[in-house]
Amino acid sequence: MRARRAAAATAAAFLLTGCTSFADTVAAPESPPSASAAAPEPDEGTCPAERAEPDPDRPEISLDFTLSDDRRSVTGTETVVFTPDRDVRELVFRLVPNGPDSAPAGNRLVVDDVRGDDVAQGRYEAAGAGDPGGLYVVDLEDELGAGESTEVTLDFSLALGSGAFDRVGVEGPVSWWASGAPLLAWEPGVGWARDAFVPLSGETASSPVADTVVTVSAPEDLTVLMTGAQAEPSAPSGGRRTWTSEEPVARDVAVAAGPFTTTEATTPGGTRVTTGVLPEGDVPGDVFNAWTVEAIGDLEEFLGPFPYETLSVALLPDFGGGIEYPSMIFEATPSPEVLVHEVAHQWFYGMVGNSQFRDPWLDEAFASWAEAVVDPGSGLVSEEALPLPGPVGGAMDQYSNSGQYFRLVYDKGGAALLEAQRTAGEEAFAAAVRCYVDATAWSIATPADVYRALSDLPAALAVLEGAEALGEDDAPR
Ligand SMILES: [Zn+2]
Repeated sequence: MRARRAAAATAAAFLLTGCTSFADTVAAPESPPSASAAAPEPDEGTCPAERAEPDPDRPEISLDFTLSDDRRSVTGTETVVFTPDRDVRELVFRLVPNGPDSAPAGNRLVVDDVRGDDVAQGRYEAAGAGDPGGLYVVDLEDELGAGESTEVTLDFSLALGSGAFDRVGVEGPVSWWASGAPLLAWEPGVGWARDAFVPLSGETASSPVADTVVTVSAPEDLTVLMTGAQAEPSAPSGGRRTWTSEEPVARDVAVAAGPFTTTEATTPGGTRVTTGVLPEGDVPGDVFNAWTVEAIGDLEEFLGPFPYETLSVALLPDFGGGIEYPSMIFEATPSPEVLVHEVAHQWFYGMVGNSQFRDPWLDEAFASWAEAVVDPGSGLVSEEALPLPGPVGGAMDQYSNSGQYFRLVYDKGGAALLEAQRTAGEEAFAAAVRCYVDATAWSIATPADVYRALSDLPAALAVLEGAEALGEDDAPR
């Protein structure tokens, strides 16, 4: 889900270091993609009449953040009501800011307390992350059976590191954080996602959609933009204002607080778009808002209705790139093409979820492809990447560095999807992708879902197999 960095960065001549073929080691999950009601029937060649609905037993998550007066740290409380679809003895949360691509900038997420009627204890696991660890495991007193619910509350503290292209940071008067609270690492139908962090510029998380309420207390002079439909802020009290939002299908949340000037618009499809620019920002507020509205309209033409009722976009200082979160984007470069890529992630990652560790191409290659369909001349997808050796469909620990990851997953992956579309027929391919999107909405998709959606287009499958995006293991059994 990590947005690509600025085009110049990925277009630079990354040296590919010793790409060997490791597609054989890319394990397809043996379990179905989701046990939710949203899982498609394994019926080849069919397409759902309507977009799948989210799992009615999805988690309920309440997040309460307080940004400190000096704007360099956040304290918070997270309450999770969790109903697993298989038996568990623990809850596992991912502490994304402690990862090796984030912690060195000074970001740090610590759990200060955990409580709940069924809680025995909480403990950290390193998982390849920095101190105090990349995972926080909450052991339960007894087994929690499938379909049973438990409520767990976590208090946490988040240090915001120096401004950089990252999910968490502070730069001058603006603070932002995403994946800034312990992230429930549950993959329905599969189990806990305990994947180790990797030192690449990309995500490794997997999280289910949750019925989410967010509250943010911030110094009164700041404007808050965040995931979900926002209410008007409270009246100032004690030098602070409180902002709230709700999003019924959020996998994660993002918050930006700064002296933003906001612009609002409603798209023809009914999405409320709120954009914010900083004083002396790179793009006028009305222009930036118009870019966002246009991107939504262009993508809806072939991907179907925008997944959320609202989209908020904060234009941060130009660190080069953008990072997508459910119904919220940190745009950190004044590029309409990069913005289209991030908006495309609202479908691929936001709605059609994926294990960003196991199958990063399911969000990054598809977002790159969608951007190239909208802006064929943008050059964000380098079609010369198609013959590069190495798999599109590797897991995050199979790429040796960020440059190789970008070249194979974004560039070769986007180019392979474009070539598959050209080979199979523009409209037939677009229709099959639309079926994939509707069938896997709000679940965590797998390459097998892509295979199933393209099963009537063998020419497209052949291109994706040739690019090592799909493999034999992904074929329906
Ligand atoms: Zn991306």
